[in-house]
Amino acid sequence: MSEKARIVGIDLGTTNTLVASVKNRVPKVVPTDRGNLILPSVVALSAKGDLLVGGIAKDQAVTNPKNTVYGAKRLIGRKYDSKIVQDLKSYYTWDVVEGADGSAAASLGGRVYSLPEISSFVLAHVKTIAEQFLGGPVEQAVISVPAYYNDNQRQAVKEAGQLAGFDVKRIVNEPTAAALAYGFNRGLDQKVLVYDLGGGTFDVSVLQVTGNVFEVLATGGDTFLGGTDFDNRIIDFVLETFKKETKIDLSQVPIAMQRIKNAAEAAKIDLTLIPNVVIELPYIDERKGKPIDLRVPLSREQLNTLTGDLVARTFQLCDEVLTEKGIARSLIDEVILVGGQSRMPLVQQSIKDHFKKPPRKGVHPDECVALGAALLGDSLDQIDSVTLIDALSMPIGYALPSGRFRKIIEKNHVIPTVKSFRLPPPSAPGGQFIEMDIFQGDSEQIVDNEYLGTVKVPASAAGKRVDFKLDEECLLHVFVEELGDPREVKLSTRDTPETLKRALADEMARRPRTEERSAAERGGLFSSLKRLLGG
Ligand code: AMP
Repeated sequence: MSEKARIVGIDLGTTNTLVASVKNRVPKVVPTDRGNLILPSVVALSAKGDLLVGGIAKDQAVTNPKNTVYGAKRLIGRKYDSKIVQDLKSYYTWDVVEGADGSAAASLGGRVYSLPEISSFVLAHVKTIAEQFLGGPVEQAVISVPAYYNDNQRQAVKEAGQLAGFDVKRIVNEPTAAALAYGFNRGLDQKVLVYDLGGGTFDVSVLQVTGNVFEVLATGGDTFLGGTDFDNRIIDFVLETFKKETKIDLSQVPIAMQRIKNAAEAAKIDLTLIPNVVIELPYIDERKGKPIDLRVPLSREQLNTLTGDLVARTFQLCDEVLTEKGIARSLIDEVILVGGQSRMPLVQQSIKDHFKKPPRKGVHPDECVALGAALLGDSLDQIDSVTLIDALSMPIGYALPSGRFRKIIEKNHVIPTVKSFRLPPPSAPGGQFIEMDIFQGDSEQIVDNEYLGTVKVPASAAGKRVDFKLDEECLLHVFVEELGDPREVKLSTRDTPETLKRALADEMARRPRTEERSAAERGGLFSSLKRLLGG
């Protein structure tokens, strides 16, 4: 009998990547080359022109910021000229540029790398680590992605895996993987809420676990709420306290800010274990040639007061997701915590208060996503395999000539699925082709949503049936009826489509009002992002 091909589960994170494998149906995280369980998701080009990956790339980030790529997970699979990339790019210390296919890419030492390429370096490194540890080739992988990732982002991660030399067996949603790590082979019949509070984002998903069937009932969250926002509250407190005492404003001193940022995060993590800390930074500044030290005591209670509203917001989002699906809080059997920030005692206490039960112990918040991905990989060709029924996190539809968005598959719709509709006529009367621009997002306006591609077919296809098919990886396939048979149409054009150009122009004309509003709405968002990205 030929030996089963080795398969690993990979949690490709914004900050760190973990890889896990299964032996005798027990998943374990594979230690990296430095003996840690995590590999920083960082790629750099050294002064000598060597490509560095992981801890060694991260170590030299401070001295070589322009050639150190981090945080690629936030930009991968996004168009360079999309609003989000344009808004974010200045907060990165490396150069975010336009790649050959119109996507956001990285410029390192004068060469442009696509972000799937950058992520593939991390994945290839992880592959080598796993091969050394497991003692043989590892060719297959299941890779996790955030539940809110759109079609382009999922495709880009799959491409990264393939570039790294993996046969990517499945892309799995992170909360689903976490639920798998908790419920696999335990014969449960439970509603589980996965509360994922990481460094930059908050995600919540509700799943029904019945035996080895994992069904996502609803998902939601905030892509700009995470541990960095907690750090920022401490930073502001430290700056204010220091200014009151010394009249010195350190917010304009970059090196001091970098030290305070690191100390704030360390203090926050310490306060998870102990009730009081003192943030001490000798020689933070000088006055008349004399060194000035910073010394700010901080208690857990003070931290709770500074960040209580952030924690409250996560529970508001939990309630929104539950209400959307008409699920009472009392029906949640277990709450699983994912993400480093979920270790905060206030979060744990608030879970108890909110759901009237403590969070589930025994599921490791950092490891469960990789472990779940590995379990899924291991079970893919087993008889008692796992069934995943996922839900679409953002609607998919097409652009109307007015720039509005016509939804075809609604949010939270069960996947896999197929939705059919009739192809609209060409937008210009007498046109030779019908061009249907496909978008994904929550907004009624296409300009706020992500452009996925265009279906271009002869005008004679007007009125024919179109199928939007979402497969189990939440990847979109489009079929157009032709002579009675549906034919899969490859999404064409990587350029900005006409509808989007028009909608963008209209948006610019309206801009003064909209900009004011969005600046207010996003409030701390960009400042926190700036800090998150170390800018
Ligand atoms: P992740 O994206 O899951 O790696 O989460 C990283 C975030 O978790 C960062 O903001 C960390 O500061 C935060 N974090 C890690 N460990 C702890 C801890 N013990 N207590 C509070 N926050 C933590």
